[in-house]
Amino acid sequence: MRTRAEGFTRLEETKNDKLDVLIVGGGATGLGLAVDAATRGYRTAVVEAGDFAQATSSRATKLVHGGVRYLASGQVHLVYEALHERKIMLANAPHLVHPLPFVMPAYRWFDLPFYGAGLKLYDLLSGRSSLGPTSILSLRETRERVAGIASTGLKGSVLYHDGQFDDARFALALARTAEDHGAIVLNYARCIALHKSHGHICGAQVEDVETGRSFEVHAGAVINAAGVFVDELRSYDDPSSPRMLSLSRGTHIVVPGEVLGHANAIMVPKTRDGRVIFAIPWMGKVVIGTTDVPTPSVAMEPGHETAEIDFLLETINAYLARPLGKRDILSVFSGLRPLVTGAEAKTSRLSREHTVQLSASGLITVAGGKWTTYRRMAEDALRFAIRRGMLPRRPCVTRTLRLHGAPVQSPPEGPLSRYGTDAAEIASLWAADAEMKTLLDPELPFTRAEVVFAARCEMARTVEDVLSRRTRALLLDARAAQRSAAAVASLLATELGHGKRWIEHETKSFVELAQEFYLVSRTTA
Ligand SMILES: Cc1cc2nc3c(=O)[nH]c(=O)nc-3n(C[C@H](O)[C@H](O)[C@H](O)COP(=O)(O)OP(=O)(O)OC[C@H]3O[C@@H](n4cnc5c(N)ncnc54)[C@H](O)[C@@H]3O)c2cc1C
Repeated sequence: MRTRAEGFTRLEETKNDKLDVLIVGGGATGLGLAVDAATRGYRTAVVEAGDFAQATSSRATKLVHGGVRYLASGQVHLVYEALHERKIMLANAPHLVHPLPFVMPAYRWFDLPFYGAGLKLYDLLSGRSSLGPTSILSLRETRERVAGIASTGLKGSVLYHDGQFDDARFALALARTAEDHGAIVLNYARCIALHKSHGHICGAQVEDVETGRSFEVHAGAVINAAGVFVDELRSYDDPSSPRMLSLSRGTHIVVPGEVLGHANAIMVPKTRDGRVIFAIPWMGKVVIGTTDVPTPSVAMEPGHETAEIDFLLETINAYLARPLGKRDILSVFSGLRPLVTGAEAKTSRLSREHTVQLSASGLITVAGGKWTTYRRMAEDALRFAIRRGMLPRRPCVTRTLRLHGAPVQSPPEGPLSRYGTDAAEIASLWAADAEMKTLLDPELPFTRAEVVFAARCEMARTVEDVLSRRTRALLLDARAAQRSAAAVASLLATELGHGKRWIEHETKSFVELAQEFYLVSRTTA
């Protein structure tokens, strides 16, 4: 891995030797683009204003899926495409994506054939990419799969399969893959202006957020992959450009794993607001979500409303033998969906399909879509740039490109499995120093060595980077994450060369942030 200073030096050198592609935004879309562009052999850089996946891309429901509910709205093409991308993600990053069985409980007899047929179609659409057959389960089979399910009146269930992943770590795997293939990959590097020559975009001004120093970056093509912030970047290009996105907040709650059992998820096919919600086992806990609340303004921390928590609890409690209360909630996290605006007012009905757009001065914007289709979005955007003569024609290779850490044989097992082939580096830190093997907190499955590894090899710069995205402590148990902030700050300070004041500041700001993730102190209402 190159150092941060080397990355900025290489950006500066683009004055004499310009990049082929500069990508603004280091979420799923931007990092997917960086991997595609670098592996086609383009001189590539991706700059992220915060940490990789800090915005929407670390706040997904953790599904790699076709989207069962899009079938109901007739978006068959979107489902078909995503189901095939699901298979590609699983094949190329088996350490981060795995199949997960879903149980859709039925409390009315006619729900079994009705939903069974829909989910059979879902499986048929996946063709050879199927992750397992759809079938009708008896009452006994349903209870065997989901121990915590409410059995009164339960007739049986429909079993189907989808994929699950660790979104933030998948983003990191993309960042490292892009870097492995020669791209400049920088977090805490914000695009603060776009440069034009004769009315045509020819680069950008990029600020090192840590030092405040800014760099002129020269590139043949500039791609705006700023997620929910794309309209801000479009305004740098043309202050009069109309808004392209509407935003919808999705909130999740996280509860102890025993609530459900650890192997099967529940899908609730219809809630009182007409949505689907999921209760999904994830890293020893259960993630329940999500809501869909139209949101006028964009923010890195979108917060949540008490009504969303009440809605999630009320909906899932109808399916659980032991109802959940607010006291069971370990963490709450929300994200903003970037939805390409359509005529319909209700955001859950707006298209999740992505769009690639070119401005008069040549800024390419890629927006919409979902995590599962990130690779396809990148392929489409680069094909678009090639067709317009902005890049030389070169083939896309990402369909079969194994991502950083992907094991050659079967996925590794054990507590470090999510690191894939990098697990050996953490194991060697454990072997060198027993202290490195101690847990950050008794409630969290993360060791000190993972903090050191995050700083040395995964571009972690802050306590939040480590506790929210390198490990997922903040999402799994916000109070436990808060308790480990000082230890993480101290380990990071040693690695990054910071002093006592930095440790105090980092600890304090993380403690404040973590308060936003546990109930029920804050609302946006
Ligand atoms: C609640 C919720 C649940 C979801 N669940 C799923 C799911 O289970 N499965 C699925 O497939 N999809 C899911 N999605 C959709 C998926 O998460 C998003 O489509 C995807 O993460 C969007 O990625 P992005 O890179 O376009 O945007 P982002 O992740 O928002 O990334 C954009 C990045 O650009 C950066 N940026 C902005 N301005 C600048 C600048 N000036 N300079 C540099 N960088 C800048 C931001 O800091 C940000 O990190 C979900 C979305 C939400 C909201």
